[in-house]
Amino acid sequence: MTGVTWTSTSSTGTRAVTRADLPLEVRVALAVNRRMMQLPGGAVCSCGEARPVCLLRGSEPVICVECARVGWGYGPVEEHHVGGRPSPLPTVLLRSNQHALATWLQEEFWRLDGHEPGSPYAVAFDLGVLAGMGAAWTNVSG
Ligand SMILES: [Zn+2]
Repeated sequence: MTGVTWTSTSSTGTRAVTRADLPLEVRVALAVNRRMMQLPGGAVCSCGEARPVCLLRGSEPVICVECARVGWGYGPVEEHHVGGRPSPLPTVLLRSNQHALATWLQEEFWRLDGHEPGSPYAVAFDLGVLAGMGAAWTNVSG
């Protein structure tokens, strides 16, 4: 089976359309759909976590990142590098599922757009994500 290639034609010629060319809302919808397709229908962790990006692909029964980490003997929080690594800011502690979501958004968006880790755009994007998630951190480290 071959994939479909979309093309874009402009005064400079015709070229393949990449994910980075798509509007942000389309990329979000496609990325969420891609993750949902990697999980069984109605996938949810026993704790109630159902956000596809927070669930471990291939887990049976389905388990979220945070419950898995606790089961493996780790704590339920992880250090997040705001704007990627290296970051000009101290790391912040996030619940593991929030960290999974924030990291996924980094990968899908500013990295895909070619912004460097620690760049003003990457840091601003991450701060917006954290604020939008209502992420609350109680500790910072250098
Ligand atoms: Zn869970």
